[in-house]
Amino acid sequence: MKKRTFQIFTYRLPFREPLPVKDSTLTHREGLLIRLVDDDGVEGWGEIAPLPGFSRESLADVIRNGETVARLWCSRFPDALFSMRAPSIRFGIEQASCHIAASREKLPLHQMVSRGAQDRIRLCGLLSGDSHEQIARAIRLRLAGYRTVKIKIGRKSPEADAHLVKSLCDDLGADVRVRLDANRGWSLEDATRFCKLIEGTSIEFIEEPLNNPSALSAFHDLTKIPLALDETVIESKPALWTKIKGVAAVILKPTLAGGFRSCVDLANAAVSIGAMPVVSSSYESGVGTLGLAALAAFIQRPEEAAGLDPYSYFEDDLLAEPLQIVNGCFYLANLRHIQVRAELLKEVCRG
Ligand SMILES: [Mg+2]
Repeated sequence: MKKRTFQIFTYRLPFREPLPVKDSTLTHREGLLIRLVDDDGVEGWGEIAPLPGFSRESLADVIRNGETVARLWCSRFPDALFSMRAPSIRFGIEQASCHIAASREKLPLHQMVSRGAQDRIRLCGLLSGDSHEQIARAIRLRLAGYRTVKIKIGRKSPEADAHLVKSLCDDLGADVRVRLDANRGWSLEDATRFCKLIEGTSIEFIEEPLNNPSALSAFHDLTKIPLALDETVIESKPALWTKIKGVAAVILKPTLAGGFRSCVDLANAAVSIGAMPVVSSSYESGVGTLGLAALAAFIQRPEEAAGLDPYSYFEDDLLAEPLQIVNGCFYLANLRHIQVRAELLKEVCRG
């Protein structure tokens, strides 16, 4: 008798350069890939990669709980995800199920998420390194066709960051949008001082400026600068964050927020307050990034850039044919097959 099966693998991929993430620096990424095979032998791949420092669940947790959910999927439990709260597992299982459905329909993944989904995803270039390296990379990205870049601020003084942001905007000119992400690095006073220092500079938005997020509306009243929410979206319900003033963008990270369905709900909440949803990576490999791009193709407007550029920081990839970035975009129409490099995976369980 035919039956459903699954395999779960671990992976470890190096980055080209160390990436500062919150309070630590990432040199490599570890996570899981899950392979679901339905009773006709059609396979689907998904990525389960909790991000240390951001995800509540650990890698050990998701190996154990991912196996439980996969067994429920194999036994056709009506909603295998019903009892599963770990967001990274929800994302991986939803992605693998969606991939199976897409393969059956002979569609690329993003067309399975929505038949009207766009084929091209603009990327927001992520800048890293010291000030000179960030400006040099921003200029390279502009020449390569990127039209949006994001810079991390909030680790230095408001004066030092303001100097960098003004130099960057001057060098890039008006055809590249600049996003700022402070990762809650500043007090209300410091963040307000920073905004005063960059007055007259055109910024698309500033993401999570305050170490006390309850003061975000007050910050917007003082500065009028457009805000983006990231950590706040993970920590609180839309009923709370939709009341914050001046929200121009809502960052959606499916590995942290709970997969495709949760992110579509969050995107609808964002749109209801006039904010743009921005699908963003939690440093997933090419497999997970493909799932994120499929979601972005559905919920983002074509001219808005997705936060999927961290993919370009990987030294190596799990996809046999890595995703190509052309003119600062992913093109999804021809991505019908996900072929994974088995030599980079270590099987931890199957059933
Ligand atoms: Mg952020």
